[in-house]
Amino acid sequence: MSNIIVQKFGGTSVADTQRIKNVARIVVNEKEQGNDVVVVVSAMGHTTDYLVKMAYELNPNPSGRELDMLLSTGECVSIALLTMAIQALGHKAVSFNAAQVGIFTENVHTKARIIDIKTDKLKKNLSEGKIIVIAGFQGITEDGEITTLGRGGSDTSAVALAGALNAQRCDIYTDVDGVYTTDPRVVPTASKLDSVSYEEMLELAHAGANVLHPRSVETAKQYCVPLRVRSSFKTSDMGTLIIGVENMEINKPVAGVASDLSQVRIVVCDIPDTPGEAATLFGSLAKENISVDMIIQSYARKISNTNDIAFTINKTDLPKAKTILESVKEKLNAGDIKIDENIAKISIIGAGMIDRPGIASTMFETLASNSINIRMISTSEIKISCLIDKQDANKAVKTLHEVFNLDSGIEAEVNGTLPDV
Ligand code: ADP
Ligand code: ASP
Ligand code: MG
Repeated sequence: MSNIIVQKFGGTSVADTQRIKNVARIVVNEKEQGNDVVVVVSAMGHTTDYLVKMAYELNPNPSGRELDMLLSTGECVSIALLTMAIQALGHKAVSFNAAQVGIFTENVHTKARIIDIKTDKLKKNLSEGKIIVIAGFQGITEDGEITTLGRGGSDTSAVALAGALNAQRCDIYTDVDGVYTTDPRVVPTASKLDSVSYEEMLELAHAGANVLHPRSVETAKQYCVPLRVRSSFKTSDMGTLIIGVENMEINKPVAGVASDLSQVRIVVCDIPDTPGEAATLFGSLAKENISVDMIIQSYARKISNTNDIAFTINKTDLPKAKTILESVKEKLNAGDIKIDENIAKISIIGAGMIDRPGIASTMFETLASNSINIRMISTSEIKISCLIDKQDANKAVKTLHEVFNLDSGIEAEVNGTLPDV
């Protein structure tokens, strides 16, 4: 059997038939080099955004099951069209949705995790010389229910398939030619990274650098899948390699800056300061599959013996969280619940900040000297995140990028920009 290469193409890369033809040529080129090729595609252009918009126009709180039924259709359009385009170039090709392959997920709607992938059918089709085109972002439960993996999840489909098939490489083709020190749409002179470690990439992705879905990096690390981010518009460029071990000595303390505008801050005020209140609060959210990111608990006030707990969650979970919090409020005998959607999380990431003092203070001073107020702070060994007002997000990214010497002075190439929905 030949080497298996998994290629993934995002929405911008398959936005219209011209671009699908371009993708078909990239796929066929890989096949003609003697490799077996498995392709994963996203929905065309802004299709998923349009589908979400329609759902919320009809129902402010659509059920997860119906959302998944709807959103999974976008990728089904792309696989059939791309397969036709490959066949038109004279190659054998076949498209499969997740149910046809057997991409099994847990029984959770709109953010399911992959549990298992059946490979028999894929291997049989590859051995018949076919190029296989698979719908990203979707899965199927044991009971035959359709699920999706969360926005941006096609990256994870591709890496998981690469892991299951023991592929030689997984190439994520997108509209930028690699991973940059920050979003090149925010800082056009950001520097392209030739390589970045799984750990740093994982933190960057979690911090909002949506060039890779965080779980795709997790999966690549777990299954040792060599992962590359490259441009579908400039295939001569080898892009950025996500690798196991970075340089032993790291010169720059900060490898990248990211901003995340998808979070919302919730404060539960005046919670009686007794053991178990945080467990009740976060346990109730966890039971409904709501992930919490930053958390701050205030000191207990002496007279009332109560404290406040502030935390952030993803905006998409807010309707569900509101209902849960109302009942938790009753249970805990807590005070007001305050919700703020006008926030952004700004993070600096770098393995080089370990044991290097002064990085956090430089970040805080930079934000202060730009009159940017910090509302919450969280840290990991290789990341410092600050919650700030949304309108300050781009200014914060630009100034931090400059202060930590990440600028290349050369404008990055960002292709295929689509009009906003
Ligand atoms: P696709 O549709 O191909 O999955 P995405 O829009 O999900 O593409 O991801 C690519 C986009 O990620 C880029 O256009 C860029 O604006 C954004 N991005 C954010 N942070 C970074 C970063 N650090 N490096 C490169 N791109 C980034
Ligand atoms: N189409 C899905 C989305 O827009 C999945 C993906 O593109 O990765 O989120
Ligand atoms: Mg993406």
